Amino acid sequence: MKASAFAYARATSVAHALELLATHGERAKVLSGGQSLMPAMNLRLISPELVVDIGELDELRGIAVKQGVLTIGALTRHVDLLKSAEVNTHVPLLAQAVAHVAHPAIRNRGTIGGSLAHADPASELPACMVTLGATIITRGLGGERRIAASAFFTGIYETVLSPQELLVAVELPAAPTHSRHFFHEFARRHGDYAIVGLAAQAVVNGGQFADIRLGFFAVGERPLLAKSANRLIDVVITPAVLSEASSLLGEELDPLEDQQATAAMRRHLAKVLLARGVSSLLSRPDLGVGAAA
Ligand SMILES: Cc1cc2nc3c(=O)[nH]c(=O)nc-3n(C[C@H](O)[C@H](O)[C@H](O)COP(=O)(O)OP(=O)(O)OC[C@H]3O[C@@H](n4cnc5c(N)ncnc54)[C@H](O)[C@@H]3O)c2cc1C
Repeated sequence: MKASAFAYARATSVAHALELLATHGERAKVLSGGQSLMPAMNLRLISPELVVDIGELDELRGIAVKQGVLTIGALTRHVDLLKSAEVNTHVPLLAQAVAHVAHPAIRNRGTIGGSLAHADPASELPACMVTLGATIITRGLGGERRIAASAFFTGIYETVLSPQELLVAVELPAAPTHSRHFFHEFARRHGDYAIVGLAAQAVVNGGQFADIRLGFFAVGERPLLAKSANRLIDVVITPAVLSEASSLLGEELDPLEDQQATAAMRRHLAKVLLARGVSSLLSRPDLGVGAAA
């Protein structure tokens, strides 16, 4: 199938893009890498009257580190994240996660801004933003908004972005010294969207978690920063403690059911990931899969 007829405008500056969006509102759609927008248009899931191509706005591209904060422009492609020494050094969780986003051809065009604005609940990058405590920066004609990632994603393909706004950048605090990370997803094949995934970062002190942030994805309508992680902080992790955290996790999950998995299977897989993540972050193989039930 082909997309319905639409008008096309290539934005020459952020201000130009914002003017076009302000004029056309919900009838317009922003085009970044096109890896989600074009399939959706070709399947006629959406039929914008105007496509605003921001792909040539170099000011929205690039990665910079300043005073312990990594700023990533919205048009930075997945492949750029994958190859970035700054990302690898300062937010290694993101470097690991992005290798799971689709396939090379898609990573060569898809962008971080597009991925976050698209807000697929099975996407890796939104979960990483929540885990890493990112700030998402948007711009509209009225000015800039800085939004905590935990407040940005509101539902399946839904965010707090208005149709008149652009996502322009994300800011990520550099991972604390001696922090550890864990990323894993269950997917049918490498590169497929996750059935269930976990992006985790922790600070370990004397064999205990001084901090642990667990961002689950594909377990509900948006990425979930698990509150049950608090049960794991400043305590000796025994199988009983892990089992308790696992039960608490089960209570806070509200997984969707689809062709890939039932809600019960997703809940089970999330608990398996919790056990594997904790075991890996603490380098404690004894806490592995057995504690997941
Ligand atoms: C076969 C296939 C497999 C895939 N597998 C995965 C996967 O495993 N994991 C995963 O995370 N993704 C996957 N993707 C999606 C891919 O990662 C996309 O690149 C990404 O979701 C969107 O990025 P984009 O730059 O292509 O955005 P686009 O397709 O250009 O835009 C996506 C949406 O975001 C809006 N938008 C884009 N940029 C902005 C902006 N700066 N401000 C405001 N709104 C904006 C658009 O209007 C549109 O609604 C897959 C895609 C395909 C085709």
